[in-house]
Amino acid sequence: AKEQGRNGFRHFTPSMQEKAENRIRLANDLRFALSSQQFQVHYQPILDTVTGQVVKAEALLRWQHPEHGFVSPDLFIPIAEDTGVIHEVGNWVFREAAKLASRWRKQCPAACGQVSVNISPRQFMHEKTVDALLGCLTEMNMPGECMAIEITEGLLLDDQDHVREKLVSLREAGIRVALDDFGTGYSAMGYLKKFNIDYLKIDRSFVRDLARDESDRAIAETIVIMAKRLGMKTIAEGVETNEQRDILAAVECEYVQGYLYSRPLPAAGFLEYVAENMRAGC
Ligand code: C2E
Ligand code: CA
Ligand code: CA
Ligand code: CA
Repeated sequence: AKEQGRNGFRHFTPSMQEKAENRIRLANDLRFALSSQQFQVHYQPILDTVTGQVVKAEALLRWQHPEHGFVSPDLFIPIAEDTGVIHEVGNWVFREAAKLASRWRKQCPAACGQVSVNISPRQFMHEKTVDALLGCLTEMNMPGECMAIEITEGLLLDDQDHVREKLVSLREAGIRVALDDFGTGYSAMGYLKKFNIDYLKIDRSFVRDLARDESDRAIAETIVIMAKRLGMKTIAEGVETNEQRDILAAVECEYVQGYLYSRPLPAAGFLEYVAENMRAGC
């Protein structure tokens, strides 16, 4: 294959075709994945930087494919979006997350834990999504404050009136809104004042080299300061070392999340982690 690689054309075409075929196969398999119980939701703890307490969790979807094993969400979420499967799956994730929030509340009523769910742009824009999310809260008898959604910057540039209207409905129900992967998409930030956002999530790419890279440090600090000035709080993702944590604490980033504390865990494992964290703290 190496020799053929010189002929870029011959080398390139089959892999494109293979990729397309894989995509079609995965798209088909995705249709049955929910009813075949191949999905799981894992939860990654988010800690208060000052107290070290677990106060939030991010729900992350996991797909265990019967032949290929674990398939990364970065690979299958875009396919689920293209095929429309994302709506059913997304509503299921939200329900699972609300269930976890409810178990968390029963386990420690004082904790007031909040579970956030990633919502892709197309899922967010679907006419039934907002009602589905609100209906789920009513059904589970959960206050909106226990839930948050994570959306990306691109969405806020889309159909602004429509997006704002939907965000207002969710926030009126108490659901918090986090802006995911902040700083990686668009440099125009005027939209921040047009929408009511509760949290900015500092992308992992700015956290990774925090201890070595002066500019990353400046970016992280600037995001925190700007967030505070605009009445928002910041969550840093991908925190893997104590050094990174110390820098984030020094610039007064409110929340941290990453492998330093825990990988995303199945529901039972997450609740154990929370119980352990409560015993260790205060
Ligand atoms: P994201 O929302 O930016 O999620 C953070 C990703 O970083 C997760 O990858 C998480 O497992 C990983 N991560 C957390 N801490 C660390 C760390 O310390 N180091 C490193 N290297 N990675 C860390 P994951 O679970 O593979 O998810 C990838 C993406 O898939 C997510 O990125 C999100 O955009 C999307 N996704 C996951 N679940 C859902 C879902 O239910 N719905 C939608 N629409 N998208 C989802
Ligand atoms: Ca996220
Ligand atoms: Ca993110
Ligand atoms: Ca991401």
